[in-house]
Amino acid sequence: MHPFSIVIHGGAGTIVKSDMTPELEKAYKIGLDKSLQQGFSILENGGSAINAVREAITLLEDNVLFNAGRGSVFTKKGVQEMDAAIMDGSNLAAGSVTGVRNVMNPIELAYEVMINSNHVFLSGKGANDFAIKQGLKLMSDEYFFSKFRYDQWKEIRDSDSYSLDHTHQDLAELLKDKKFGTVGAVACDQHGNIAAATSTGGMTNKQYGRIGDSPIIGAGTYANNKTCAISCTGHGEPFIRAVAAHDVNALMEYKGLSLQEAMNEVVHHKLIELKGEGGMIGVDANGNTAMVFNSTGMYRGMKNSNGEEKVGIYKEEI
Ligand code: ASP
Repeated sequence: MHPFSIVIHGGAGTIVKSDMTPELEKAYKIGLDKSLQQGFSILENGGSAINAVREAITLLEDNVLFNAGRGSVFTKKGVQEMDAAIMDGSNLAAGSVTGVRNVMNPIELAYEVMINSNHVFLSGKGANDFAIKQGLKLMSDEYFFSKFRYDQWKEIRDSDSYSLDHTHQDLAELLKDKKFGTVGAVACDQHGNIAAATSTGGMTNKQYGRIGDSPIIGAGTYANNKTCAISCTGHGEPFIRAVAAHDVNALMEYKGLSLQEAMNEVVHHKLIELKGEGGMIGVDANGNTAMVFNSTGMYRGMKNSNGEEKVGIYKEEI
């Protein structure tokens, strides 16, 4: 049997144990574990990598602790604008959406774009209208309202600053026990096909209309059976300028680096030079996995058919 594996993330940033309560830490780990097990069970039952990442992301989008779907952060205008992308490494098919509102599961919309439109990337109203046409579930503004996110945004809404969900120096105190993030999943199935998916509310107080790296194919999300499937999290702008996810692919394809080597190069060298804080998760078509970050923490988990399994938050847990 071909080895299979899944890796997920729930965002990266300044996440330190002393800022966490045991209850919150437990709630995160339960959320990550649920998504990991669900995604893995699809692979175990012979399902595709694409379906495993979709399912894993959907559970994280429904969990208010993570900055995606229901738990998305507020933009400068005080609304949620969500981004998501999915890519199938077996045929390089991809779908992504940006600036969508009220869609319960933006990853499902990205999937619909991939399989039921002739396009790759839809934005704003066009993406929302497509969600309605495809019969996706829309939710009221109340569904997306959470007090802690609102308070987090209120603190900086009159300034020009915007923040990674987990990182804002002036907000260190405020965000003390509110460190939540973008979600991502990558998987390798029993047929040796790989896939990547990412979903996010973006950065708190982001400029109206701002697009981060997550929905940009090659920047925050990329998959190619020849090399790797990658989902990124962190300060989107440097990730876009580094074309981070595709850069891992390029190092593997053209320079023959392994998955781990290529991810180390991009996260610990290229992104550092661009002051790009964050990390990424990856798999290759042999089922190898890697989780690399240059921030103090990244919510993450992995499970594979060799019986290895890990869920972690802080650096020390590597
Ligand atoms: N990369 C996301 C963005 O810039 C944010 C994150 O990963 O938390 O929109």
